[in-house]
Amino acid sequence: MTREPDGSLGMAGVSLADVAREFDTPTFVYNLEVLRSRHDILCQAFARQGVPLRVRYAVKANGSRAILETLASLGAGADIVSGGEMAAALRAGISADRIVYSGVGKTGSELEETVRTGLGAIHVESLEEIDLLARVAKREGRDVAVGIRVNPGVTTETHPYISTGQFGIKFGIPADQAGAAAEQIAASPRLTFHTLGMHLGSQLLVPTPYGDGLECLLDLLAQLRGRHLAGDLQVLDLGGGIGMRFRDESPLDPRDLAAAVAPGVRKSGLAVQMEPGRYLVGPAGVLLTRVLYRKHSGGKDFLVVDAGMNDLARPSLYQAYHHMVPVHPASGPVGPTEVVGPVCETGDWLARDRGLPALPAGALLAVLGAGAYAYSMGSNYNLRRRPAEVVVSEGRSALARARETVDDLFRREVPDPLSLLSSDRGPS
Ligand SMILES: *Cc1c(COP(=O)(O)O)cnc(C)c1O
Repeated sequence: MTREPDGSLGMAGVSLADVAREFDTPTFVYNLEVLRSRHDILCQAFARQGVPLRVRYAVKANGSRAILETLASLGAGADIVSGGEMAAALRAGISADRIVYSGVGKTGSELEETVRTGLGAIHVESLEEIDLLARVAKREGRDVAVGIRVNPGVTTETHPYISTGQFGIKFGIPADQAGAAAEQIAASPRLTFHTLGMHLGSQLLVPTPYGDGLECLLDLLAQLRGRHLAGDLQVLDLGGGIGMRFRDESPLDPRDLAAAVAPGVRKSGLAVQMEPGRYLVGPAGVLLTRVLYRKHSGGKDFLVVDAGMNDLARPSLYQAYHHMVPVHPASGPVGPTEVVGPVCETGDWLARDRGLPALPAGALLAVLGAGAYAYSMGSNYNLRRRPAEVVVSEGRSALARARETVDDLFRREVPDPLSLLSSDRGPS
């Protein structure tokens, strides 16, 4: 974030007040300079260790075309978790061979669609999924590169909803079943065991879990090689999860991460791949919102703003903290404030007990760290229209996705469903 000559907040040389004037609020604003620089920092950290990183950006963090196209132009691939995300990645110019498909609940038709497209790898999460994938590959007459996503049984210090690498949760194939999974792949003529991977969780702030997980993967690798089950293996995938700073956390420095895993990666002789989402795009985005009303209730000061939990679910879903900065510097005493949205839920808040000056109605607030898991988790709850998305870079701004219209809300509605029930059609 920068300050404009008039003291107001700017991003990439663009005034946020101008963005609000042109595109209204609430609006997500993404700084593509930040996105590019974080991609470079991550890749350089691994390159310096002599283990060039393959980046497979986790589309679920933010699937906006402008974000995907920017990453595609940097050579990144994509990690997808649905057929919809595959379509988003392909239309943004990410080639199929750079797309990996993750997810614990892929449907038969999604497997068909992705097998036909010929993705870089499909990462399986259960023995039954391998079964189904083998049948689909045979039926389609296609060879499929398979990744085994191992659950290495590593606990992480993050919010329980985003911890994914410990035993007893739904993700991955438990390490002790990985041998059976590799045997099953070896027994399927159309399947090749291409990637051994893990994804431990999100918002990880220390390299230790990656080191622990990698150790588990290397143990497995040795066992699989001993059983001649790893002859085609090419890639070690360490997943996503690299944390960022929301408040006062020390974020995980990619150089520390690369240093922690490089020796193990080198020893494996495999290419190293990661699936970062939040790290790349989280700090690149802000949610621009406007104060609608102020009120005092129950001894508390409330700011009612025009963005709600349907636009940014993280505070109500994970009790997440997002820093907030008034776009125009405000004077006056700072007091504890509840920042709440218009949605009819008490849980619809963006900040609780936050030190903010008494902002007047009409004031603009920038909610920071809103580039990841923000727009992509949004909904139409309360029949609210999804906000606009704007990208900024080198002093210019452009609309990346228009605010939804009322028509958008009803586009898929059948005009007169009640008539389809009416008696003149006879009993069914
Ligand atoms: C969500 C997810 C990621 C990305 O996680 P971040 O914390 O955003 O980096 C990567 N891989 C898989 C399999 C995921 O489900």
